[in-house]
Amino acid sequence: MVLDRRQFLKRTVHSAGVAVAASLAVNAISQPDGPGRFSSPGLYAAESSPKKASRYIDVHTHIGTTWNGNKELTPDGLLRWMDDHDIEKSVLLPLTSPESSSFLLLTEPALAAAKAHPDRFIAFCSIDPRTSLRGGRKGFLDVISRYVEQGARGFGEHKVGLNFDDPLMMQIYDVCQELQIPLLFHMDNQRGKDQPGLPRLEHALATFPKLNFLGHGPGWWASISGGLTQKELASYSKDKVRPGGAIDKLMEAYPNLYGDLSAGSGANSISRDREFGREFMIRRQDRLLFGTDYLQPGQPVPQFELFDSLDLPKEVTSKIYRGNAERVLKLNS
Ligand SMILES: [Zn+2]
Repeated sequence: MVLDRRQFLKRTVHSAGVAVAASLAVNAISQPDGPGRFSSPGLYAAESSPKKASRYIDVHTHIGTTWNGNKELTPDGLLRWMDDHDIEKSVLLPLTSPESSSFLLLTEPALAAAKAHPDRFIAFCSIDPRTSLRGGRKGFLDVISRYVEQGARGFGEHKVGLNFDDPLMMQIYDVCQELQIPLLFHMDNQRGKDQPGLPRLEHALATFPKLNFLGHGPGWWASISGGLTQKELASYSKDKVRPGGAIDKLMEAYPNLYGDLSAGSGANSISRDREFGREFMIRRQDRLLFGTDYLQPGQPVPQFELFDSLDLPKEVTSKIYRGNAERVLKLNS
């Protein structure tokens, strides 16, 4: 209850700030040429520029240096790129498992960036389920709830070299369900491991029906197609989608399952069979979230052009590009 109250207060204060900013903007507009105090150049230069009603909320980015040989993506570099691409807000995802990246991306820098730019960044938190902690499940609950108190709105990127329903993984899902935060996971044959048909994911979905799972990665997106071999769970197939894909089956059965369209795997799942991809996006318009996996300056991102080229109905894109993220991340509450 303490947590809820603190969060409530934090959000109320934030909303009040937004309201003040909005009224300032109205004042400024109502006297565009006046010598009013709002015309002073650079008055608010030190503050982050509020960007409203943009096209996208990006549920998948990483600040820092993710892979060896990559250039660092700073919060300012990410903000500039977001401005160039009409992205209002981005989710900053830590990576804390040794299998997940070359360098670990910790939760603290994500929280700090979101605190500095609360209107642009949304921090998630992450802890590897094999971390030495006192107190077992309670220890994880303590650590993760402290991150939530500091502003984390979700858990992930959960990219761990264990089976998807390993007891240690299930413990994390249990804690996230209790804290009512969504969990964004990566799946392939090395991290968040499963089998064709995704029975391990189904086990987790059924065990934690109140936890929203956001699926990402080659193992997840390959499962848009049926008839997969184990090897294909790590592949980026260019073949037409075969019937019986686990994603559609599981989304039908479990309302707590979503897809994060970021990265090469997300783009490929739609572009490999454009007709199926377009129908899938329309059919699952309430379960799909726009994302990029932008993690280094200058990185090409196919999602913008690809989704534009599908000529999707406006009500579909407005949900996928931002409405679903606002709902799942509780951005308006
Ligand atoms: Zn990622």
